[in-house]
Amino acid sequence: MRLRVLGSGSKGNTLAVRAGGTLLLVDLGFSHKEVAGRLAACGADINEVSAVLFTHDHSDHCRGVATFHNRHPSVPLFANGDTADAIAVQSGVNDGWAVFENGEPFEVGDFTVTAFSVPHDAADPVGYLLEADGRALFVGTDMGYVTENVRAAFARATCAVLEANHDPILLEQSGRPVSLKQRIRGRTGHLANEDAAMLLVETNPPCLKTLLLGHISQECNSRSLARQTFADALARIGRQDISLSLLDQDTPCDLFEF
Ligand SMILES: [Zn+2]
Ligand SMILES: [Zn+2]
Repeated sequence: MRLRVLGSGSKGNTLAVRAGGTLLLVDLGFSHKEVAGRLAACGADINEVSAVLFTHDHSDHCRGVATFHNRHPSVPLFANGDTADAIAVQSGVNDGWAVFENGEPFEVGDFTVTAFSVPHDAADPVGYLLEADGRALFVGTDMGYVTENVRAAFARATCAVLEANHDPILLEQSGRPVSLKQRIRGRTGHLANEDAAMLLVETNPPCLKTLLLGHISQECNSRSLARQTFADALARIGRQDISLSLLDQDTPCDLFEF
């Protein structure tokens, strides 16, 4: 598998992963032009995209869908029923949807895809486990807390994109309105650094080689703090074999092959 996260954070999210002849996007959280440009910067062409998988109906995950669907009407848009309905209402994209059930694996080209439910304030939010060639990519951001579903998927990962959204103290000190602070730290908000690191420590996935921290808040987190929290967690479980990287809002990540 070959992975590029094109951008990750509250201003937009899109991930591109290739196995064999299949190129999948997870989410379209940027304009079509921006996604095409970032793919091109990574040496890929947006016309090669085989399918798009949506995690949930927040605009930082689906704002590019209308233009994408106009330009690439035959590319299937995968989502569960409630997410497809919610994105259709927002975007006016009423066809092209390929609807799946959470927890039931399905094939998309060379990938086997399993969506798992996550607690977040959207219609029916999910994370994904994408499997090909005996490898598994975990995609889990936008979740208020870690559930058994999340643990079970994370335990199988070879590579993981995991949310490290905020530090509770920096969130408290931020200028955000009280209601937004409560939303972020609530049960259907976003994962704090320590909670995500606890998932790593408790699960200690045996095959995990690459850990990418995503959806890092620019106001309510610090990249050095997030990195240090996970470096400490990796040291605690003696996993110096796992490489740790932080994803960025504005720039695609390096190419990861696994
Ligand atoms: Zn988001
Ligand atoms: Zn969200």
